[in-house]
Amino acid sequence: MEPQNQPSLEDEKGNCKRCGHPFSPHLVIAFDTKDFTKGGELRCPVQGCNCFMTLSFDLKKNENVESE
Ligand SMILES: [Zn+2]
Ligand SMILES: [Zn+2]
Repeated sequence: MEPQNQPSLEDEKGNCKRCGHPFSPHLVIAFDTKDFTKGGELRCPVQGCNCFMTLSFDLKKNENVESE
């Protein structure tokens, strides 16, 4: 199952929208593996490509703002 709620950083062909390389091998690196809320970065592994994106991991559960 592919998660459907991810930001669309890849096009319909599965290529990176930024650099056009296949998106799937892009590397996700967390700044702090103990605290993913600090975010991370996404890098293209293709040599010479400087595709770089900052990511934020939305791990916080949506607070229930609904009230009766
Ligand atoms: Zn690239
Ligand atoms: Zn890329």
